[in-house]
Amino acid sequence: MDLAEFCRAIPKVELHVHLLGAIRLQTLAELAQRQGTGYSPGEVDELARRDAKPKGVLHILRALEQRILRGPEDLHRIAYEYLEDAASQGVRHAEIFWNPTGTARDSGIPYAAGADAILAAFDDAKHDHGISALLIPSIDREGTPEEAAEMVEWMIAHRRDRIIGLGIDYRETDHPPEFFWKAYRAAKRAGFRLTAHAGEFGCHWRNVETAIDLLEVERIDHGYTVLDNPALARRCAERGIIFTVVPTNSYYLRTLEPARWAIDHPIRRMPQAGLLIHPNTDDPPLHRVDPQRCWTMMVEDFGFDLDDLRRFMLNGIVGAFIPEDDKRGLAATFSAEYERLRADLDIAA
Ligand SMILES: [Zn+2]
Repeated sequence: MDLAEFCRAIPKVELHVHLLGAIRLQTLAELAQRQGTGYSPGEVDELARRDAKPKGVLHILRALEQRILRGPEDLHRIAYEYLEDAASQGVRHAEIFWNPTGTARDSGIPYAAGADAILAAFDDAKHDHGISALLIPSIDREGTPEEAAEMVEWMIAHRRDRIIGLGIDYRETDHPPEFFWKAYRAAKRAGFRLTAHAGEFGCHWRNVETAIDLLEVERIDHGYTVLDNPALARRCAERGIIFTVVPTNSYYLRTLEPARWAIDHPIRRMPQAGLLIHPNTDDPPLHRVDPQRCWTMMVEDFGFDLDDLRRFMLNGIVGAFIPEDDKRGLAATFSAEYERLRADLDIAA
């Protein structure tokens, strides 16, 4: 077994993946070319293009919300296909972000109908592929704080078991976390778990601090600029906050020199600062990545070894929004499997 096969086989969780960003490229093409959507094949190719210095994927997510999605069945298909692909790559449990504000406002899919379609896909994927999943409605931070608070009201009015927590994503620049404290306060009061994208796009470390101290999140998505404040990084390390990092993050691919990218990337330095990180695919087909490649990059690009990978695997369980009792059993199972697979690995690492 080589490193890529090993990274495909190791049991893992995925804690940072966006429903619309997880759409298969083939499905994107099919949905975009339905009658009335107005995309030619060339335009779809252009929409999904990813260069060496990628411009990011937010415009693709917006196109889905505003022009391409038609109904709950589209959300079901995207969720099911993602889980099918993830399960084939050793992912046993996934926690998926979904932006209900955009799908309600722009795609005309009411919150409850969208949520139930996605949860039905979770049931189908569990039955067919054995993978479990939780749903995390996520604030579109390019919208207003009032829209965010309204979204949390929908979550409370249409309570579902596997709708576990609240997140926030889209463009962080000019949309800092403090704008959304009311939505987070209401979600916490209602018993939802909390996470937030912060310190992405090179945004100030203050956003990480605000997410932790004001929004009271339990984990951080991205969070790279925490390294710019060693005292804050130390505090995050002491509290055991899990950072769901993304090796294929567009911002660093675009802004760091190709020759220096893997050397200067903050992912490399986060564990040295005592931070607990867990690698994720974010928007897998749109980033041209999958769980196998994501975990392989941690070794080939960022220089981590197999003991590090084992730690990252266990960090994922610690950070998951699953019952504490389940985590112990899962950690034991994953660890035993990891060691068995490691014994079959053909490299000295
Ligand atoms: Zn993300």
